[in-house]
Amino acid sequence: SAITNHMPTEELQRLDAAHHMHPFTANGPLSKKGARVITRAKGVYLTDSDGEQILDAMSGLWCVNIGYGRDELAEAAARQMKELPYYNTFFQTTHVPAIALADKLAQLAPGDLNHVFFAAGGSEANDTNIRMVRTYWAAKGKPDKKVIISRKNAYHGSSMGSASLGGMGYMHAQGGLPIPDIHHINQPNWWAEGGDMTPEEFGLARARELEEAILEMGEDRVAAFIGEPIQGAGGVIIPPETYWPEIQRICDKYEILLIADEVITGFGRTGNLFGSQTFGIRPDIMTIAKGLSSGYAPIGGSIVSDEVAAVMAEVEFSHGYTYSGHPVAAAVALENLRLIEEEKMVEHVRDTAAPLVREHWLKLTEHEMVGEAVITGLMASIALTPDKSTRAKFASDPGTVGSICRDICFSNNVIMRHIGDRLVIAPPITITPPDIEEMFTRINRSLEQAA
Ligand code: PLP
Repeated sequence: SAITNHMPTEELQRLDAAHHMHPFTANGPLSKKGARVITRAKGVYLTDSDGEQILDAMSGLWCVNIGYGRDELAEAAARQMKELPYYNTFFQTTHVPAIALADKLAQLAPGDLNHVFFAAGGSEANDTNIRMVRTYWAAKGKPDKKVIISRKNAYHGSSMGSASLGGMGYMHAQGGLPIPDIHHINQPNWWAEGGDMTPEEFGLARARELEEAILEMGEDRVAAFIGEPIQGAGGVIIPPETYWPEIQRICDKYEILLIADEVITGFGRTGNLFGSQTFGIRPDIMTIAKGLSSGYAPIGGSIVSDEVAAVMAEVEFSHGYTYSGHPVAAAVALENLRLIEEEKMVEHVRDTAAPLVREHWLKLTEHEMVGEAVITGLMASIALTPDKSTRAKFASDPGTVGSICRDICFSNNVIMRHIGDRLVIAPPITITPPDIEEMFTRINRSLEQAA
Protein backbone atom coordinates (compact mmCIF):
# COMPACT_ATOMS: atom_id res chain seq x y z
CA SER A 1 0.00 0.00 0.00
CA ALA A 2 1.02 3.64 -0.48
CA ILE A 3 3.38 5.18 2.04
CA THR A 4 1.73 8.35 3.40
CA ASN A 5 1.86 10.84 6.27
CA HIS A 6 -0.94 8.88 7.90
CA MET A 7 1.11 5.74 8.53
CA PRO A 8 2.22 5.04 12.11
CA THR A 9 5.58 6.66 12.91
CA GLU A 10 7.25 3.33 13.72
CA GLU A 11 6.34 1.93 10.32
CA LEU A 12 7.71 5.01 8.52
CA GLN A 13 10.89 4.79 10.57
CA ARG A 14 11.26 1.11 9.75
CA LEU A 15 10.96 1.76 6.02
CA ASP A 16 13.31 4.75 6.30
CA ALA A 17 15.97 2.63 7.99
CA ALA A 18 15.50 -0.16 5.45
CA HIS A 19 15.97 1.91 2.30
CA HIS A 20 17.02 5.50 2.86
CA MET A 21 20.69 6.43 3.32
CA HIS A 22 20.86 9.76 5.18
CA PRO A 23 23.64 12.21 4.27
CA PHE A 24 26.23 13.11 6.94
CA THR A 25 24.82 10.40 9.21
CA ALA A 26 25.89 7.09 10.73
CA ASN A 27 22.87 5.24 9.45
CA GLY A 28 23.32 2.19 11.72
CA PRO A 29 22.79 4.00 15.04
CA LEU A 30 20.08 6.19 13.47
CA SER A 31 18.12 3.13 12.35
CA LYS A 32 17.99 1.89 15.96
CA LYS A 33 16.79 5.23 17.30
CA GLY A 34 14.54 6.10 14.34
CA ALA A 35 14.65 9.41 12.49
CA ARG A 36 11.97 11.93 13.39
CA VAL A 37 9.52 12.08 10.49
CA ILE A 38 8.66 15.64 9.43
CA THR A 39 5.32 15.80 7.69
CA ARG A 40 4.47 19.47 7.12
CA ALA A 41 5.54 23.00 7.99
CA LYS A 42 4.20 26.54 8.27
CA GLY A 43 6.00 29.74 9.22
CA VAL A 44 8.84 28.73 11.56
CA TYR A 45 7.18 25.50 12.75
CA LEU A 46 7.62 21.94 11.54
CA THR A 47 5.08 19.25 12.37
CA ASP A 48 6.21 15.67 12.90
CA SER A 49 4.32 12.41 12.40
CA ASP A 50 3.27 12.41 16.06
CA GLY A 51 1.75 15.89 15.67
CA GLU A 52 4.50 17.67 17.66
CA GLN A 53 5.22 21.31 16.69
CA ILE A 54 8.95 21.91 16.36
CA LEU A 55 10.35 25.45 16.14
CA ASP A 56 12.97 25.36 13.40
CA ALA A 57 15.65 27.82 14.51
CA MET A 58 17.90 26.58 11.66
CA SER A 59 15.67 27.31 8.62
CA GLY A 60 16.17 23.70 7.54
CA LEU A 61 19.78 23.69 6.38
CA TRP A 62 20.13 27.50 6.65
CA CYS A 63 17.95 27.88 3.58
CA VAL A 64 14.25 28.48 4.28
CA ASN A 65 14.80 32.22 4.59
CA ILE A 66 11.18 33.31 4.00
CA GLY A 67 9.73 30.56 6.22
CA TYR A 68 7.61 27.55 5.36
CA GLY A 69 4.27 27.26 3.64
CA ARG A 70 4.22 30.21 1.22
CA ASP A 71 1.57 29.34 -1.36
CA GLU A 72 2.93 31.96 -3.79
CA LEU A 73 6.01 29.79 -4.39
CA ALA A 74 3.95 26.63 -4.84
CA GLU A 75 1.79 28.46 -7.37
CA ALA A 76 4.79 29.85 -9.26
CA ALA A 77 6.18 26.30 -9.51
CA ALA A 78 2.88 24.87 -10.71
CA ARG A 79 2.41 27.63 -13.32
CA GLN A 80 5.91 27.13 -14.68
CA MET A 81 5.61 23.34 -14.67
CA LYS A 82 2.53 23.55 -16.85
CA GLU A 83 3.97 26.15 -19.22
CA LEU A 84 7.52 24.86 -19.68
CA PRO A 85 8.72 22.24 -17.17
CA TYR A 86 12.15 21.90 -18.63
CA TYR A 87 14.41 23.05 -21.33
CA ASN A 88 18.16 23.50 -21.10
CA THR A 89 19.96 26.77 -21.67
CA PHE A 90 22.77 25.11 -23.66
CA PHE A 91 23.27 25.05 -27.41
CA GLN A 92 21.87 28.43 -28.43
CA THR A 93 18.55 28.36 -26.55
CA THR A 94 17.30 30.16 -23.48
CA HIS A 95 14.00 30.67 -21.65
CA VAL A 96 12.18 33.41 -19.80
CA PRO A 97 12.65 32.26 -16.17
CA ALA A 98 16.45 32.06 -16.63
CA ILE A 99 16.54 35.45 -18.37
CA ALA A 100 14.36 37.07 -15.72
CA LEU A 101 16.24 35.58 -12.76
CA ALA A 102 19.67 36.49 -14.15
CA ASP A 103 18.42 40.02 -14.83
CA LYS A 104 17.01 40.30 -11.30
CA LEU A 105 20.20 39.02 -9.70
CA ALA A 106 22.28 41.48 -11.74
CA GLN A 107 20.11 44.29 -10.33
CA LEU A 108 20.34 43.05 -6.76
CA ALA A 109 23.99 42.01 -6.52
CA PRO A 110 26.46 44.71 -5.50
CA GLY A 111 29.06 46.35 -7.74
CA ASP A 112 29.51 45.01 -11.24
CA LEU A 113 28.35 41.46 -10.49
CA ASN A 114 26.08 41.34 -13.52
CA HIS A 115 26.32 37.84 -15.00
CA VAL A 116 24.98 34.56 -13.67
CA PHE A 117 26.05 30.96 -14.31
CA PHE A 118 23.35 28.71 -12.84
CA ALA A 119 23.66 25.40 -10.99
CA ALA A 120 21.37 23.23 -8.90
CA GLY A 121 22.99 24.14 -5.58
CA GLY A 122 26.04 25.52 -3.81
CA SER A 123 28.38 22.55 -4.36
CA GLU A 124 27.83 22.66 -8.09
CA ALA A 125 28.27 26.42 -8.15
CA ASN A 126 31.60 26.18 -6.34
CA ASP A 127 32.74 23.48 -8.77
CA THR A 128 31.90 25.97 -11.51
CA ASN A 129 34.01 28.57 -9.71
CA ILE A 130 37.07 26.30 -9.52
CA ARG A 131 36.98 25.65 -13.23
CA MET A 132 35.99 29.21 -14.13
CA VAL A 133 38.81 31.01 -12.28
CA ARG A 134 41.41 28.64 -13.71
CA THR A 135 39.95 28.99 -17.21
CA TYR A 136 39.84 32.77 -16.78
CA TRP A 137 43.55 33.01 -15.97
CA ALA A 138 44.48 30.57 -18.73
CA ALA A 139 42.52 32.72 -21.18
CA LYS A 140 44.54 35.72 -19.96
CA GLY A 141 47.75 33.86 -20.78
CA LYS A 142 48.51 32.78 -17.21
CA PRO A 143 47.80 29.03 -17.13
CA ASP A 144 49.97 28.56 -14.01
CA LYS A 145 47.73 30.85 -11.98
CA LYS A 146 45.52 28.05 -10.71
CA VAL A 147 45.94 27.65 -6.94
CA ILE A 148 42.83 28.51 -4.96
CA ILE A 149 43.37 29.55 -1.37
CA SER A 150 40.65 28.68 1.11
CA ARG A 151 40.46 28.27 4.87
CA LYS A 152 40.53 25.45 7.37
CA ASN A 153 37.08 24.65 8.71
CA ALA A 154 35.42 26.24 5.67
CA TYR A 155 32.41 24.54 4.11
CA HIS A 156 31.88 24.97 0.38
CA GLY A 157 29.96 21.81 -0.50
CA SER A 158 30.18 18.05 -0.79
CA SER A 159 31.28 17.32 -4.35
CA MET A 160 34.94 16.43 -5.03
CA GLY A 161 35.78 19.98 -6.02
CA SER A 162 33.76 21.92 -3.50
CA ALA A 163 34.69 19.64 -0.59
CA SER A 164 38.33 20.12 -1.60
CA LEU A 165 37.80 23.86 -1.32
CA GLY A 166 36.25 23.21 2.06
CA GLY A 167 38.58 22.81 4.98
CA MET A 168 36.90 19.98 6.86
CA GLY A 169 39.51 17.38 7.77
CA TYR A 170 36.89 14.70 8.39
CA MET A 171 35.63 15.15 4.83
CA HIS A 172 39.10 15.11 3.29
CA ALA A 173 39.70 11.82 5.11
CA GLN A 174 37.08 10.06 2.97
CA GLY A 175 37.31 9.48 -0.76
CA GLY A 176 40.66 10.90 -1.73
CA LEU A 177 40.34 14.66 -1.23
CA PRO A 178 41.55 17.31 -1.79
CA ILE A 179 42.05 17.73 -5.53
CA PRO A 180 45.39 19.38 -6.49
CA ASP A 181 46.18 23.07 -6.19
CA ILE A 182 43.92 23.96 -3.29
CA HIS A 183 45.70 25.52 -0.31
CA HIS A 184 44.18 26.13 3.14
CA ILE A 185 45.14 28.89 5.56
CA ASN A 186 43.89 29.32 9.14
CA GLN A 187 40.42 30.65 9.91
CA PRO A 188 39.64 33.81 11.91
CA ASN A 189 38.21 31.98 14.94
CA TRP A 190 39.26 34.28 17.78
CA TRP A 191 37.51 32.34 20.57
CA ALA A 192 39.30 29.07 19.82
CA GLU A 193 42.61 30.30 18.45
CA GLY A 194 43.07 33.98 19.31
CA GLY A 195 45.31 33.40 22.35
CA ASP A 196 46.39 36.70 23.95
CA MET A 197 45.65 38.84 20.91
CA THR A 198 42.72 41.25 20.77
CA PRO A 199 40.13 40.25 18.16
CA GLU A 200 41.31 43.15 15.96
CA GLU A 201 44.96 42.08 16.10
CA PHE A 202 43.96 38.49 15.49
CA GLY A 203 41.78 39.39 12.49
CA LEU A 204 44.72 41.17 10.86
CA ALA A 205 47.12 38.34 11.67
CA ARG A 206 44.84 35.72 10.15
CA ALA A 207 44.19 37.82 7.02
CA ARG A 208 47.93 38.28 6.56
CA GLU A 209 48.33 34.51 6.31
CA LEU A 210 46.81 35.00 2.87
CA GLU A 211 49.60 37.40 1.93
CA GLU A 212 52.23 35.02 3.32
CA ALA A 213 50.80 32.13 1.30
CA ILE A 214 50.74 34.23 -1.88
CA LEU A 215 54.33 35.36 -1.37
CA GLU A 216 55.44 31.82 -0.66
CA MET A 217 53.81 30.33 -3.76
CA GLY A 218 54.28 33.38 -5.99
CA GLU A 219 51.40 35.56 -7.14
CA ASP A 220 51.69 34.08 -10.63
CA ARG A 221 50.46 30.78 -9.23
CA VAL A 222 47.48 31.96 -7.18
CA ALA A 223 44.16 32.27 -9.01
CA ALA A 224 41.67 33.08 -6.28
CA PHE A 225 40.77 33.25 -2.63
CA ILE A 226 37.41 31.87 -1.48
CA GLY A 227 35.68 32.55 1.82
CA GLU A 228 32.27 32.59 3.42
CA PRO A 229 31.69 36.11 4.81
CA ILE A 230 30.72 34.29 8.02
CA GLN A 231 31.78 30.64 8.25
CA GLY A 232 28.48 28.81 8.68
CA ALA A 233 28.92 25.05 8.93
CA GLY A 234 32.27 25.74 10.62
CA GLY A 235 30.31 27.02 13.64
CA VAL A 236 29.11 30.54 12.76
CA ILE A 237 32.56 32.05 13.09
CA ILE A 238 32.07 35.81 12.77
CA PRO A 239 35.41 37.35 11.79
CA PRO A 240 36.87 40.35 13.64
CA GLU A 241 36.16 43.67 11.88
CA THR A 242 39.74 43.95 10.69
CA TYR A 243 39.66 40.68 8.76
CA TRP A 244 37.76 41.27 5.51
CA PRO A 245 39.20 44.73 4.67
CA GLU A 246 42.68 43.23 4.91
CA ILE A 247 41.72 40.23 2.76
CA GLN A 248 40.29 42.64 0.19
CA ARG A 249 43.47 44.75 0.20
CA ILE A 250 45.62 41.66 -0.35
CA CYS A 251 43.47 40.28 -3.18
CA ASP A 252 43.56 43.69 -4.91
CA LYS A 253 47.31 44.08 -4.46
CA TYR A 254 48.25 40.69 -5.92
CA GLU A 255 45.49 40.43 -8.53
CA ILE A 256 43.82 37.45 -6.89
CA LEU A 257 40.14 36.92 -7.67
CA LEU A 258 37.97 37.09 -4.58
CA ILE A 259 35.11 34.59 -4.36
CA ALA A 260 32.54 35.30 -1.64
CA ASP A 261 30.63 32.12 -0.87
CA GLU A 262 27.27 33.63 0.07
CA VAL A 263 25.34 30.36 0.04
CA ILE A 264 24.31 30.96 3.67
CA THR A 265 24.94 34.69 4.08
CA GLY A 266 22.97 35.69 0.97
CA PHE A 267 19.36 36.86 0.78
CA GLY A 268 18.91 38.70 4.03
CA ARG A 269 20.64 36.51 6.57
CA THR A 270 23.10 39.13 7.86
CA GLY A 271 20.76 42.15 7.76
CA ASN A 272 21.68 43.14 4.21
CA LEU A 273 20.73 41.32 1.05
CA PHE A 274 24.30 39.97 0.89
CA GLY A 275 26.95 39.36 3.53
CA SER A 276 29.48 41.11 1.28
CA GLN A 277 27.57 44.34 1.94
CA THR A 278 27.66 43.73 5.70
CA PHE A 279 31.43 43.20 5.67
CA GLY A 280 32.44 45.62 2.88
CA ILE A 281 33.68 42.88 0.54
CA ARG A 282 33.91 43.55 -3.24
CA PRO A 283 33.88 40.04 -4.70
CA ASP A 284 34.69 39.13 -8.30
CA ILE A 285 32.46 36.09 -8.01
CA MET A 286 29.69 35.35 -5.56
CA THR A 287 28.37 31.84 -4.87
CA ILE A 288 24.64 31.71 -4.20
CA ALA A 289 22.12 28.92 -3.43
CA LYS A 290 19.87 28.11 -0.44
CA GLY A 291 18.05 31.42 0.28
CA LEU A 292 17.87 32.14 -3.47
CA SER A 293 14.75 29.95 -3.53
CA SER A 294 14.37 29.68 0.27
CA GLY A 295 14.99 25.97 -0.30
CA TYR A 296 11.64 25.50 -2.08
CA ALA A 297 13.46 24.33 -5.23
CA PRO A 298 17.09 23.31 -5.79
CA ILE A 299 18.94 26.19 -7.45
CA GLY A 300 22.26 27.97 -7.05
CA GLY A 301 24.80 29.76 -9.15
CA SER A 302 27.78 32.03 -9.52
CA ILE A 303 27.29 35.77 -10.01
CA VAL A 304 30.28 37.05 -11.91
CA SER A 305 31.80 40.51 -12.48
CA ASP A 306 31.79 42.31 -15.83
CA GLU A 307 35.54 41.74 -16.16
CA VAL A 308 35.43 37.99 -15.48
CA ALA A 309 32.39 37.57 -17.73
CA ALA A 310 34.09 39.50 -20.56
CA VAL A 311 37.10 37.18 -20.51
CA MET A 312 34.92 34.06 -20.20
CA ALA A 313 32.78 35.23 -23.13
CA GLU A 314 35.69 34.60 -25.48
CA VAL A 315 36.07 30.97 -24.34
CA GLU A 316 33.79 28.02 -24.92
CA PHE A 317 33.57 27.00 -21.26
CA SER A 318 33.08 23.22 -21.34
CA HIS A 319 31.00 23.18 -18.23
CA GLY A 320 27.33 23.09 -17.24
CA TYR A 321 24.65 20.98 -15.61
CA THR A 322 21.43 19.50 -16.92
CA TYR A 323 19.63 21.64 -14.36
CA SER A 324 21.58 24.90 -14.90
CA GLY A 325 18.82 27.52 -14.94
CA HIS A 326 16.02 24.99 -14.46
CA PRO A 327 12.84 26.89 -15.38
CA VAL A 328 10.74 25.70 -12.43
CA ALA A 329 13.49 26.41 -9.90
CA ALA A 330 14.16 29.79 -11.52
CA ALA A 331 10.46 30.71 -11.39
CA VAL A 332 10.36 29.76 -7.70
CA ALA A 333 13.51 31.80 -7.00
CA LEU A 334 12.04 34.85 -8.78
CA GLU A 335 8.87 34.63 -6.71
CA ASN A 336 10.97 34.23 -3.55
CA LEU A 337 12.97 37.37 -4.41
CA ARG A 338 9.75 39.24 -5.13
CA LEU A 339 8.40 38.38 -1.66
CA ILE A 340 11.68 39.30 0.05
CA GLU A 341 11.53 42.74 -1.58
CA GLU A 342 7.79 43.42 -1.39
CA GLU A 343 7.44 42.33 2.21
CA LYS A 344 10.62 44.20 3.18
CA MET A 345 12.10 41.12 4.82
CA VAL A 346 15.65 42.45 4.91
CA GLU A 347 14.41 45.56 6.71
CA HIS A 348 12.51 43.28 9.09
CA VAL A 349 15.76 41.49 9.94
CA ARG A 350 17.65 44.74 10.47
CA ASP A 351 15.01 46.75 12.34
CA THR A 352 12.97 44.17 14.23
CA ALA A 353 14.11 40.54 14.33
CA ALA A 354 17.89 40.82 14.66
CA PRO A 355 17.88 43.43 17.49
CA LEU A 356 15.44 41.31 19.53
CA VAL A 357 17.26 38.03 18.91
CA ARG A 358 20.54 39.77 19.75
CA GLU A 359 19.23 40.97 23.12
CA HIS A 360 18.22 37.42 24.10
CA TRP A 361 21.28 35.83 22.54
CA LEU A 362 23.87 37.92 24.38
CA LYS A 363 22.12 37.12 27.67
CA LEU A 364 22.92 33.44 27.15
CA THR A 365 26.44 34.21 28.44
CA GLU A 366 24.83 34.44 31.91
CA HIS A 367 24.63 30.67 31.68
CA GLU A 368 27.63 29.04 33.35
CA MET A 369 28.50 26.87 30.33
CA VAL A 370 28.27 29.60 27.71
CA GLY A 371 31.53 31.39 26.89
CA GLU A 372 31.14 33.79 23.98
CA ALA A 373 27.85 34.59 22.27
CA VAL A 374 28.16 36.17 18.83
CA ILE A 375 25.58 37.28 16.31
CA THR A 376 25.30 39.13 13.02
CA GLY A 377 21.83 39.60 11.61
CA LEU A 378 20.03 36.30 12.16
CA MET A 379 23.11 34.10 12.27
CA ALA A 380 24.38 33.37 15.76
CA SER A 381 26.51 31.01 17.80
CA ILE A 382 27.54 30.34 21.38
CA ALA A 383 30.69 28.57 22.50
CA LEU A 384 30.24 26.04 25.31
CA THR A 385 33.11 25.86 27.77
CA PRO A 386 33.89 24.44 31.22
CA ASP A 387 35.81 27.65 32.07
CA LYS A 388 35.00 31.01 30.47
CA SER A 389 38.04 32.81 31.88
CA THR A 390 40.50 30.54 30.06
CA ARG A 391 38.23 29.73 27.07
CA ALA A 392 38.93 26.08 27.94
CA LYS A 393 37.69 23.09 25.97
CA PHE A 394 35.79 20.19 27.54
CA ALA A 395 37.84 17.11 28.40
CA SER A 396 35.37 14.88 26.54
CA ASP A 397 35.62 14.29 22.79
CA PRO A 398 34.98 17.57 20.98
CA GLY A 399 31.30 17.91 20.28
CA THR A 400 30.04 15.57 23.01
CA VAL A 401 28.67 18.37 25.19
CA GLY A 402 27.39 20.20 22.12
CA SER A 403 25.53 17.14 20.88
CA ILE A 404 23.96 16.56 24.31
CA CYS A 405 22.69 20.16 24.32
CA ARG A 406 21.41 19.80 20.77
CA ASP A 407 19.52 16.61 21.73
CA ILE A 408 17.94 18.34 24.72
CA CYS A 409 16.84 21.19 22.44
CA PHE A 410 15.36 18.65 20.02
CA SER A 411 13.42 16.99 22.83
CA ASN A 412 12.10 20.46 23.77
CA ASN A 413 10.97 20.96 20.18
CA VAL A 414 13.45 23.61 19.15
CA ILE A 415 16.02 22.86 16.47
CA MET A 416 19.48 24.26 17.08
CA ARG A 417 22.54 22.74 15.51
CA HIS A 418 25.73 21.79 17.33
CA ILE A 419 29.05 22.20 15.57
CA GLY A 420 31.66 20.77 17.88
CA ASP A 421 30.98 22.53 21.16
CA ARG A 422 29.29 25.50 19.54
CA LEU A 423 25.52 25.79 19.24
CA VAL A 424 24.16 27.80 16.35
CA ILE A 425 20.89 29.26 15.09
CA ALA A 426 19.80 30.80 11.80
CA PRO A 427 16.00 31.09 11.95
CA PRO A 428 13.82 32.16 9.04
CA ILE A 429 14.35 35.87 8.38
CA THR A 430 10.61 36.39 8.71
CA ILE A 431 10.54 35.25 12.35
CA THR A 432 8.13 37.42 14.37
CA PRO A 433 8.64 38.81 17.89
CA PRO A 434 6.22 36.27 19.50
CA ASP A 435 8.05 33.40 17.78
CA ILE A 436 11.39 34.85 18.92
CA GLU A 437 10.11 34.87 22.54
CA GLU A 438 8.94 31.26 22.16
CA MET A 439 12.28 30.26 20.62
CA PHE A 440 14.16 31.62 23.64
CA THR A 441 11.72 30.06 26.12
CA ARG A 442 12.63 26.69 24.58
CA ILE A 443 16.36 27.42 24.25
CA ASN A 444 16.67 28.68 27.84
CA ARG A 445 14.75 25.71 29.20
CA SER A 446 17.05 23.38 27.26
CA LEU A 447 20.25 25.01 28.50
CA GLU A 448 18.99 24.87 32.10
CA GLN A 449 18.30 21.17 31.72
CA ALA A 450 21.77 20.66 30.21
CA ALA A 451 23.61 22.30 33.14
N1 PLP B 1 28.73 26.84 0.46
C1 PLP B 1 28.31 27.09 1.70
C2 PLP B 1 28.84 28.29 2.43
C3 PLP B 1 27.39 26.23 2.31
O1 PLP B 1 27.00 26.45 3.57
C4 PLP B 1 26.90 25.13 1.58
C5 PLP B 1 25.92 24.20 2.18
O2 PLP B 1 25.70 24.17 3.37
C6 PLP B 1 27.38 24.92 0.29
C7 PLP B 1 28.28 25.80 -0.25
C8 PLP B 1 26.93 23.74 -0.52
O3 PLP B 1 25.68 23.95 -1.01
P1 PLP B 1 24.76 22.70 -1.47
O4 PLP B 1 24.53 21.87 -0.26
O5 PLP B 1 23.54 23.39 -2.03
O6 PLP B 1 25.49 21.97 -2.53
